[in-house]
Amino acid sequence: MSGAGGRPYLAIPGPSIMPDRVLQAMHRPSPDIYSGPLIAAMPKLIDDLRAVACTKGDAAIYIGNGHAGWEAGLANTLKAGDKVLFLATGRFAYSWIEMAEALGLDCDVLDFGRQAPVDPDQVEQALREDKSRKVKAVMVCHVDTSTSVLNDVAAVRAALDMVGHPALLFADCIASLACDRFEMDAWGVDVMIAASQKGLMTPPGLAFVFFNERAKAARAGLDRVSRYWDWVPRTEPELFYQFFMGTAPTHHLYGLREALDMLSEESLEAVWRRHERLAKTVWAACSTWAQVGPLRLNIAAPAHRSRAVTALSLEDGSGTRLRHWLEAEMGLTLGIGLGMETPKDPRSDRAFRIGHMGHLNAQAILGVLAAMDAGLKALGIAHGDGAIEVATRELAKSEKVRPGARAAE
Ligand SMILES: *Cc1c(COP(=O)(O)O)cnc(C)c1O
Repeated sequence: MSGAGGRPYLAIPGPSIMPDRVLQAMHRPSPDIYSGPLIAAMPKLIDDLRAVACTKGDAAIYIGNGHAGWEAGLANTLKAGDKVLFLATGRFAYSWIEMAEALGLDCDVLDFGRQAPVDPDQVEQALREDKSRKVKAVMVCHVDTSTSVLNDVAAVRAALDMVGHPALLFADCIASLACDRFEMDAWGVDVMIAASQKGLMTPPGLAFVFFNERAKAARAGLDRVSRYWDWVPRTEPELFYQFFMGTAPTHHLYGLREALDMLSEESLEAVWRRHERLAKTVWAACSTWAQVGPLRLNIAAPAHRSRAVTALSLEDGSGTRLRHWLEAEMGLTLGIGLGMETPKDPRSDRAFRIGHMGHLNAQAILGVLAAMDAGLKALGIAHGDGAIEVATRELAKSEKVRPGARAAE
């Protein structure tokens, strides 16, 4: 008899769980897009987005997914033939490179493997060797969702500054925004790319490109930018229609408005702390399971792990089996392994991921972990004992009980 009845739980690293408030905000008739409240709501929406990115720079919104954001960022700052340096720590860097190559960019790659973060010393070295300053931009994923590595973006900026290199710094925060601490201006990021469906708790379909004055100068130096991707009309629209180069994504905007309200009610600092606390609970359980048997955390050092997603593997190849069991028996869907193929494991049956980004709380994460614990037992996969005990102790110690205080603070 399956235990999967009731509300299913999705713990994949995007799209993330949609809050009921977001769903309800979207459940309404079509608005007028030529005048009225939706148009009036845009300036505050943009301001609130900038607050989440910790930037005073501009924000352009595109109807598209994260890939659209990648292309928009590239199209506004670089032209065919320009050299760019990608810092790769997983599969997402390579998808971004594919887009850059299709635009004719000349891509150099520093690859740090699938289990380690970017090493800023190596970045500094590579930039030092670029004597004629051919590299126009350096690209890094703040979190690469395939490996769950967290990169130190501020350290990459420091490497650029140490060499006095003028390249623009791009950060992909599609997975990390509103999950892992990120401060665009303080960390010296010139172009930041995000999307609606992860920490921002809104359905897939909106891409965001944040950019500063240096990036604007790069845009001004280009002969042409394709009309649809050009960020200028999207930030200085004479008509609302120009914000989106056509019909606005009306219902996504309603959903996003509600999600941004939720983030500001909780406060960004508290949102980051919640993700930290829940991630530590996940790591506590996983480290306990890993003491015996085949389970491994992909990123060994906690300091280099994202608070949005955790990549794991079952070295005996039973990752896929565990995922299927959890879905069928517990109503829990974990993320597939991505970019973790090896010659011995071409379908990546070892690897899987827990998404813990966005709209989730402590009881939800305990449900995920306890369901996984049951799965390891039911499938006879060897594991360290007491993971749930360790997880609850971690939760109990990471926040003192304050009578009357709610999780949202
Ligand atoms: C999800 C994700 C992407 C891709 O976003 P899409 O909306 O699927 O195009 C890119 N980079 C990172 C780091 C991601 O997590």
